[in-house]
Amino acid sequence: MMKGIRVDPAAAPPGRRPACSGADLDRETQLYGLATVRGIVTHTGIAGLTLGGGIGWLIRKHGATVDNLRSVDLVTAEGEVLTASEDENPDLLWGVRGGGGNFGIVTSFEYRLLPSDRGRPRGRAAVAWARDFFSAMQPHAGGRVYVTRTISRASKRSRS
Ligand SMILES: Cc1cc2nc3c(=O)[nH]c(=O)nc-3n(C[C@H](O)[C@H](O)[C@H](O)COP(=O)(O)OP(=O)(O)OC[C@H]3O[C@@H](n4cnc5c(N)ncnc54)[C@H](O)[C@@H]3O)c2cc1C
Repeated sequence: MMKGIRVDPAAAPPGRRPACSGADLDRETQLYGLATVRGIVTHTGIAGLTLGGGIGWLIRKHGATVDNLRSVDLVTAEGEVLTASEDENPDLLWGVRGGGGNFGIVTSFEYRLLPSDRGRPRGRAAVAWARDFFSAMQPHAGGRVYVTRTISRASKRSRS
């Protein structure tokens, strides 16, 4: 039930409630031409993903989800409500970056925003390269090319 996203392009970090999925986040950030690092599969929850590290499409350029986590709000087992950021309880922020649910229940995540760099479409060149590469192979070997495209429902709608 803890869903809600706030994207502030001026302040950069999008705030997210923990029950959101990757698709929920993409839908909101892409409206502003922005993105953050999340998982590869859109329907997984952001909370467990972030607290476990987070491996996604943007990892090579921007690191894991935890590398882009700026702060959390968290309720401890004692019922204390804390914010963890670089300036406030930095040890706790270090801990939740990979420490799972061991430090408390996170009620809000704040992420760094990145430009949603779609890049130049290079699929045609990649497929042509693969065609030439495969045809030069021995007949007992082979290969396949998979092309995937991640696009949110919101950006599909705005394009139609
Ligand atoms: C189909 C599929 C694809 C996946 N793809 C990727 C991927 O591309 N990259 C990647 O990095 N991972 C991937 N994963 C793993 C995924 O990140 C984890 O399963 C993650 O735990 C899912 O997050 P969740 O919020 O649904 O977690 P849950 O399953 O709800 O919880 C996982 C753990 O986190 C704790 N937790 C959950 N919410 C909170 C909270 N708010 N505060 C404190 N603790 C909490 C829970 O107590 C539990 O210990 C994938 C998983 C699946 C099933």
